[in-house]
Amino acid sequence: MNIVVVGAQWGDEGKGKLIDILSKDSDITVRYQGGNNAGHTVVVGKQVYVFHLIPSAILHKGKTCVIGNGAVIDPKALLDEIAGLKKRKIEVTSRKLKISGLAHVVMPYHRILDGLRESKRKNKIGTTGRGIGPCYADKVTRCGIRMVDLLNPRILKEKLEDNLREKNEIFSKVYGQHDFAFGDIYKEYLGYGQQLKAYVCDAALFLNREIDRKQSVLFEGAQGTFLDIDFGTYPFVTSSNSIVGGASSGTGVPPTKIDKVIACVKAYTTRVGEGPFPSEFADRLKDEIRNKGQEFGATTGRPRRCGWFDAVLVRYSVILNGISELAVMKLDVLDDLPKLKICTAYRHRGKIYKDFPMDFEVLNRAEPIYEELDGWQTATNGIRKFQALPPNARRYVDRVEELVGARIKYISIGSKRDEIIVR
Ligand code: GDP
Repeated sequence: MNIVVVGAQWGDEGKGKLIDILSKDSDITVRYQGGNNAGHTVVVGKQVYVFHLIPSAILHKGKTCVIGNGAVIDPKALLDEIAGLKKRKIEVTSRKLKISGLAHVVMPYHRILDGLRESKRKNKIGTTGRGIGPCYADKVTRCGIRMVDLLNPRILKEKLEDNLREKNEIFSKVYGQHDFAFGDIYKEYLGYGQQLKAYVCDAALFLNREIDRKQSVLFEGAQGTFLDIDFGTYPFVTSSNSIVGGASSGTGVPPTKIDKVIACVKAYTTRVGEGPFPSEFADRLKDEIRNKGQEFGATTGRPRRCGWFDAVLVRYSVILNGISELAVMKLDVLDDLPKLKICTAYRHRGKIYKDFPMDFEVLNRAEPIYEELDGWQTATNGIRKFQALPPNARRYVDRVEELVGARIKYISIGSKRDEIIVR
């Protein structure tokens, strides 16, 4: 069975935990988009692991992890992540980790450009400043450097010279910044190539051949549906396709080989950085839920904005991702609330929107229409059976299921591996 896990909201839905659980039953886990701007937190016993590029399945013995062509790789960050895992006695051999030679490489000028571009924008996108956006931009403008290029000194030299010629002009003439010296970057990146060489392969061939011999693959999405470059709340989005479609283009595994899509949703809504957020809480509740849910970015530590569950948003997500099953995460964070709201539609200038609007202004000014439900005000994290949940918690889950039009199979009620209800 080949399964894709995506986030159905703005990322940070708790995919890391679900992937950690599901990857135990998969032979291979593959990352298909994004870079080290993403982060998954996995709690195993007393140990907390934060992953940025490597699939968390690396924690499981005998499993293979792949970074697909759709991801972008900052080699320094990747090497740090590998070193961090090795230090904690996690094995990272070339049998356990494979990297697509076609994945694009984040260069120093991408990181700098990220910050400079953001500083010139009137509406800040809220980039993490790790060079991911500019790296994808170079991929599309066909001047990017790929992992396989780091293994070929001649090609790397040619491409880097070409890039620096153009980039240095932009840096000096547009931003009044210093030039990048060819020699240092060339040496640094050739070095990264040598250190990562053993992991680099044709990942598309590897994955397809493994699937042909009945190995199961778990595709791990980073970020979430509404950060997707096409379908997200553009321009406050990431630079890749985080919806299920990205799993094919980002790995070379055709859609016909994908059996199932599971989406993670938080029992409420959060988003990091700027951009429209119709069901955002007023300040008091924002702090309460942020602290209870530990809503601070795994990669950046940035506090997340919090709000009520938005069924309009998730309904669209169900359609875009062809979701077979939903996992509702962090239900326990709502345990104390006396009343809960679910956003069922938006209102703008007297018009009701039941479908997610394309027009940025509508979305930005949309007033949420809420349905109110009673809270359960009981701790849920010890519960392992759906029937044992307080009736109001079951009602909440059932109502979400009804409103979004997809079956809820998993309900997570705590950060630990076993704090989950499988229906
Ligand atoms: P991801 O990128 O979608 O995996 O999300 P993050 O890793 O940024 O955020 C998930 C955080 O929520 C992690 O710290 C998890 O340990 C935690 N978490 C996951 N599921 C639950 C849950 O059901 N309840 C609570 N309280 N925390 C959870």
